[in-house]
Amino acid sequence: MYQDLAEKVAVVTGGSKGIGNAIARRLAAEKMAVVINYHSDKEGAEETVAELEKAGGKAVAVHADVGTEEGIQALLDAAVFKFGGLDLWVNNAGMENQVSTHELSLEDWNKVINVNLTGVFLGSKAAINHFLETGKKGNIINLSSVHEVIPWPTFAHYTASKGGVKMFTKTIAMEYAHKGIRVNAIAPGAIKTPINAEKFENPKEKETTLNMIPINSLGEPEDVAAAAAWLASTESKYVTGTSLFVDGGMSLYPSFEEGKG
Ligand code: NAD
Repeated sequence: MYQDLAEKVAVVTGGSKGIGNAIARRLAAEKMAVVINYHSDKEGAEETVAELEKAGGKAVAVHADVGTEEGIQALLDAAVFKFGGLDLWVNNAGMENQVSTHELSLEDWNKVINVNLTGVFLGSKAAINHFLETGKKGNIINLSSVHEVIPWPTFAHYTASKGGVKMFTKTIAMEYAHKGIRVNAIAPGAIKTPINAEKFENPKEKETTLNMIPINSLGEPEDVAAAAAWLASTESKYVTGTSLFVDGGMSLYPSFEEGKG
């Protein structure tokens, strides 16, 4: 438990399922009030809120498209008007689809960039403005990916967005550090969530992925949530502008294992 998080307010985008849901639940367990954003999965968000409230926590489900200024404003308004302010903004919402780059439509490119990168910009901008107006030493956490550094053929729009998140995180961390605002990224490896459920149901595909992970297991959304709670807390008060890899070693060039190469 991180005592300093109690009674503070967080927004988690894409919080109805997967990693965002685990982060929302973990922050609520730390006694934060949580705005749980959903885009399509109203039921998932509302069920989570009901469960958290039953356990004595504070949460609200808010529909918003993170790729729009109106959507972001709705999330900030929920934090401010329902819970009295904002201390932490988690840009988690993301999407991916696989297509060869020479066949990638402009529409698909724009869709992925809009959610994964523009959404991070809009969420961060709203949070920073709130922190500057209120003089709060706020905190921002962006979900990037191991693909902020590892190339991934047929996912060029995804890797471009995550590489962008990495540099955006570092840049705004530097830009607002003197105001006491911290900004970090979490770079997950292969975490079991709805985004890849189908892939990991196929034993052959799962085995291929496991061979790329030195720890030799898939990650759980809770592993990422634990990193988010730490980055949100003052235990990490000297950490800003970094990407924390939660990847079982996937980004360690596993093909060099056992002295190969
Ligand atoms: P997920 O598909 O389970 O969840 C993504 C969430 O984002 C969903 O709730 C979805 O509705 C929401 N979303 C999509 N478009 C949105 C929009 N326009 N507005 C608001 N919400 C929107 O995926 P996940 O695995 O939980 O991924 C969460 C984050 O972690 C993503 O940014 C993803 O890229 C990143 N990530 C995941 C993995 C992994 O292995 N699961 C690995 C690396 C990075």
